[in-house]
Amino acid sequence: MNILIVEDETGLREALIKSLTDEGYSAEGAPDGEWGLDLIHTGIYDLVILDIMLPKINGLEILSSLRKENNRIPIILLTARDTLHDKIHGMDSGADDYLTKPFEMEELFARIRMLSRRFHQVTIDHILQSGDLELNLKTYEISSNNTGKKIKLGTKEFQILEYMMHNTEIVLSRNQITEKVWGFDSDAEYNNVDVYISFLRKKIKFTGAQVKIQSVRGVGYLLQKINYTKNSK
Ligand code: CA
Repeated sequence: MNILIVEDETGLREALIKSLTDEGYSAEGAPDGEWGLDLIHTGIYDLVILDIMLPKINGLEILSSLRKENNRIPIILLTARDTLHDKIHGMDSGADDYLTKPFEMEELFARIRMLSRRFHQVTIDHILQSGDLELNLKTYEISSNNTGKKIKLGTKEFQILEYMMHNTEIVLSRNQITEKVWGFDSDAEYNNVDVYISFLRKKIKFTGAQVKIQSVRGVGYLLQKINYTKNSK
């Protein structure tokens, strides 16, 4: 889970990044509202911890502009001012939760856990499926809906598999995969693709899903559903 902290107080921002990282989250910071909004727009974050009083663009403005764009990223507002007015205004602007400074880290962790549970329940359509193999576009986890076994993918593995799942049963050349994942100007070698494919094969095998990545000699790869009859067990 990738968390962005938009907070202008350097000490607090750094402390939050450290605590969240220690807790197993991936966390980054932005020191002002403009920077924060730009980062949120990259789409790589799962949750934002947003201070209200910020230079350039304040937290409430960020919040309302995101909600106007229909961006539903979960947001926890932070503020030093514990007034009813701010709280109501924040929730009205579309915040998911609210913390008043100073707060305990444990309190923040609890709010994050609650929000991520709530968020996952409404993201069923963020699942990509090929046969019994499911890829969660939010958590980067693959699982088999037969065995229930799941495992998390790295970023490149995720990008390759997402591309292949959109093209199930279609042969993709190494060139296509390289361009899709590393971009046209990349120095990535074809053998990088092979390395990530081998990681993916191991992980797919781990889930027990009836899907495999087939090599097509001299061309590339294809994601294939394994045909089997239920009676053959
Ligand atoms: Ca502030």
